[in-house]
Amino acid sequence: MQKLGLYIHIPFCAKRCNYCAFLTFAENDQMIEGYVEHLIKEIALYQTDAYEVDTIYIGGGTPSHIPAEQMAKVLEAVKQYFLVSETCEVTIEMNPESVTLEKLAAYQAMGINRYSMGVQSFNDEVLAIMGRVHNRAKALDKIRLLHEASIDNFSIDLMFANPKQDVSVLTEDIETLLRMQVPHVSVYSLMFEPHTNFTKWLREGQISQVDDETDRQMYHLIQERLIADGLEQYEISNFARPGKACRHNLKYWRLEDYLGLGLGASSNIGLERFTNYQNFLTYYEAIDRGERPVETLETMPLEEREKEFIMLNTRLIQGFSIKEMNQRFGIDFLEKYQAPIAKHLATGLVEIQGDRFKFTPYGLDVGNQFYVDIF
Ligand code: SF4
Repeated sequence: MQKLGLYIHIPFCAKRCNYCAFLTFAENDQMIEGYVEHLIKEIALYQTDAYEVDTIYIGGGTPSHIPAEQMAKVLEAVKQYFLVSETCEVTIEMNPESVTLEKLAAYQAMGINRYSMGVQSFNDEVLAIMGRVHNRAKALDKIRLLHEASIDNFSIDLMFANPKQDVSVLTEDIETLLRMQVPHVSVYSLMFEPHTNFTKWLREGQISQVDDETDRQMYHLIQERLIADGLEQYEISNFARPGKACRHNLKYWRLEDYLGLGLGASSNIGLERFTNYQNFLTYYEAIDRGERPVETLETMPLEEREKEFIMLNTRLIQGFSIKEMNQRFGIDFLEKYQAPIAKHLATGLVEIQGDRFKFTPYGLDVGNQFYVDIF
């Protein structure tokens, strides 16, 4: 049976962070119940037994911000309307301020078996300027709580290139993380997104942006320390101990089928890509009419899909199987992309190992040069 990943969007947070441009709403808790009701109706609109759901990812926003009973209702609906594999990976995103031992017990009881916590930094000054609700002590407490609950499949998000975070602060962040015996780490470089406080402060000269060289230095520092500690890098931004890679996120990079549910969620099924309304009212109205709340739907030309496959799969350290690529798109990859491949074998940006095509460590830093040449 065909496999399917589900992404479920929970657009609520305790407070908006100063760098955040995600589709989420702070101090709108009175809307949670109504949102969950509509989300459940949306889930029912996709009822199918044509797929087996083998990964579920509850993201946000801050899914741990909403009451555990509401989350349980959502997962019950998923089980009611979809065939869910017994070994389904079920991930929930959490932030330290809303994690409690009771909540973790409730999550475990409802079948959640992977936890992703947005720590970002262990430095109080960095956390304060980012506008995070938690501080170092709380982050450490909540990681201890995960261990206490015998949860061995969890991930911590770490951000670098933040204002107030020089190389020595980052080094301390990494060492703290490693001392906490973390099985999976996702690392992100700060992006200055439009309409955020950070972008406004940058324009006003209140904060500065680290230069590209420092950004790369920080990335390499993280890479070296995590790998030296036994974490394996499996994607540009992701590191895991054996067996702890995120199966759901691998679906994105491998361009496999996933269905996005909830406000603004995007789906990728076959050649179709569709995205939900980003406005509560229009999202609710469509569902109340008994319609799927899809705002945009496009069928991607195979050629475009092929390039997307190359771009996403080269994010993976193992790259992709040339044979699989040829079968999936009916092409001879090495012949079709002969010129850019030859050029970048020479620049040392890509390599071919047996059946696998992948970026070199240098290519992981400057992969855009290859992408430009395949378009
Ligand atoms: S917790 Fe995450 S989603 Fe919520 S405002 Fe902060 S960065 Fe955005």
